[in-house]
Amino acid sequence: MAKKQFKAESKRLLDLMINSIYTNKEIFLREIISNASDAIDKLCYLSLTDDQVGMNREDYRIDVLVDVEKRTITVRDNGIGMNQEEAENNLGVIAKSGSYKFKSELEGEKPEDISIIGQFGVGFYSAFMIADEVTVITRKYGEEQAICWQSKGADGYTVSPCEREQVGTDVIMHVKADSEEESYSDYLDSWKLRELVRKYSDYVRWPIHMNIDHQKLVETEEKDENGEPKYEYQTITENQVVNSMVPIWQRSKSEVSDADCVDFYKEKNHGRKDPCALVRINAEGAVSYKALLFVPGESDENTLIAAEKPGITLYSNGVMIMEKCESLVSEHFRFVTGVVDSPDLSLNISREMLQHDRQLKVIAANLEKKIKAELKSLVADNREDYEKFLKIMEENNNMLSQAKESLNLIQEKDNIIYRISPKRISDILILAKGYVTFDEIIDNFSNRINELFIGYSIYP
Ligand code: ADP
Ligand code: MG
Repeated sequence: MAKKQFKAESKRLLDLMINSIYTNKEIFLREIISNASDAIDKLCYLSLTDDQVGMNREDYRIDVLVDVEKRTITVRDNGIGMNQEEAENNLGVIAKSGSYKFKSELEGEKPEDISIIGQFGVGFYSAFMIADEVTVITRKYGEEQAICWQSKGADGYTVSPCEREQVGTDVIMHVKADSEEESYSDYLDSWKLRELVRKYSDYVRWPIHMNIDHQKLVETEEKDENGEPKYEYQTITENQVVNSMVPIWQRSKSEVSDADCVDFYKEKNHGRKDPCALVRINAEGAVSYKALLFVPGESDENTLIAAEKPGITLYSNGVMIMEKCESLVSEHFRFVTGVVDSPDLSLNISREMLQHDRQLKVIAANLEKKIKAELKSLVADNREDYEKFLKIMEENNNMLSQAKESLNLIQEKDNIIYRISPKRISDILILAKGYVTFDEIIDNFSNRINELFIGYSIYP
């Protein structure tokens, strides 16, 4: 069968993937699953106007199948599929990204129930980071003939007719042999794959099924000396839905209570204490996004981790883009954790690009305002909790030393409280070691305010 060549721009990207200068190889699964989810979105959308589709919402699914002996990972979906022309155009030409085109066709119409998440990243080609051969078996909705697209990478691809009983797509990745630097076989471990699905695709809104092996104690035919049945461990394979599908931050305040959000926080942090403040944002406008942020309530190892490696988890429509996105929170709020999800991010894989993303900057500026407002209202309504939070700041010296901007906050006369330096203050006032707000200082000591400013410090 004649081999066809990739277009030049795709070839370049492929080279990058195959030689994998990009270290974060594990995102391949996220990309392939996102495509499967997009394909289901498309068929589901079509079914709104075409009653021949014959699928119910519950029927749509994605399967991740592993064959250790054949060294393959298959991502199967029952979405819209592709015909030969589409497979050649969509898988062979990066610039003609199908999802992008589909989305721009829908522009202005804004249907509620459609969201295409494949706009960012490197997409389909990322499979070549872990696979030395990729086979796509696909049948388009409305067509009888299935087609098989196959490529070993840079030297091109083949397309041929084949059989597929149902509409949909299988992307079969033949996993590379292990090298000195990389143990590709790890990706054939279903537990590892499940972890990756949960990490990156937990909130894909279609169920992702996997066969997971468990050790289970089962009764045998044999009996022990007392005539009781003997038990032994057996490997049981169970088909499970491994993603949780609906992200809590995507749902409205009427559907999800603050208490639910606190539970989510604890679950994510393995039973950690309650947060002292919660910020929920549903922004629509020039940049649309949803955010769910937490201010820690008590110091523990998680606050330490947050202090050392700050950042908010960034999603685009439920697909994780970055676990710790630093550009979303300023240094002095580095203790804030949580998620931001924006469908409009035109994201690229590189961190450098993210840092310069205009939309991300708009979001970051908004978060800053909201966090400040939340802390201020905490001072007013729940002084005790606010002081707890201050203690955390103090206990984690490194957070505190990062809080240079806090002085600016004071100058802005934000009513946020800081501990007054006991050493300095004892020289000036008998206020001792307590906490004060800016307003209290004004009220009580307005005639000595200049002296106080000198001694005013967030450092104990
Ligand atoms: P993007 O998702 O950004 O469009 P990709 O490289 O991930 O880019 O995918 C390229 C195109 O290939 C998709 O837009 C889609 O048209 C097609 N495609 C990939 N996977 C599937 C699939 N599982 N089902 C149907 N079409 C697919
Ligand atoms: Mg994609």
